[in-house]
Amino acid sequence: MEKVITLVFHNQGLRSYIEVDLCAQCPRQDDKGCCGFYSPVFYPTDLAYLLLNEPDLLNYIFSLDHLTILDASVTVNNTIEGSSYRCRFHSKENGCILSQHLRESICRHFVCSGIGWQEEDSMQDWRDFFDKLTDYEIEVNNHWAEILKEKGLTLRDPSLRERFFDELSILYEEGLKNLPDFVTTMPERDTRSLTRPLKFGPDWIL
Ligand code: SF4
Ligand code: SF4
Repeated sequence: MEKVITLVFHNQGLRSYIEVDLCAQCPRQDDKGCCGFYSPVFYPTDLAYLLLNEPDLLNYIFSLDHLTILDASVTVNNTIEGSSYRCRFHSKENGCILSQHLRESICRHFVCSGIGWQEEDSMQDWRDFFDKLTDYEIEVNNHWAEILKEKGLTLRDPSLRERFFDELSILYEEGLKNLPDFVTTMPERDTRSLTRPLKFGPDWIL
């Protein structure tokens, strides 16, 4: 069975994401799709965005149990469910409860191999964009983590978190003024389609 799949590429700088219409009817048919194998990790660029735009969500994340908190990141660990896992932000009825721009990088960029949009010749411009963005995010996150560490700030110590976030918001505001050319030269939104044969259950490759 062939299926036309529509992808919408959103260039929002450090909050860019890919929207896929197939996800609402994921061929894995297990109410989890790719989210059944992942634990989201929020890095400084994500934390800063949430701090400035969705502070209640940031507080909620830090209120959860079974977190892995490192110096400059927090992992919301999934829970075991059946033969896979369940992300703590995933609901059986509606999928991810977070709007796409609020998710961390992998969750904003990931599209399963079954769709394989990166192999499409017509989409190499967006492949290039997301490859560069991934590298850029890693570079920025590492750089900011280093600066915060040099100031003696770490998320591991709850008493330092207020100062950590104060410094992080300054870094973020500065970073937004200096976005690289590959971000500023791409359109904010672009819709593309491709056709794929559908397979179901475990046959649909993540
Ligand atoms: S496995 Fe593919 S179709 Fe299913 S939710 Fe993930 S990205 Fe969407
Ligand atoms: S945060 Fe959302 S998109 Fe990411 S793994 Fe969890 S449910 Fe899926």
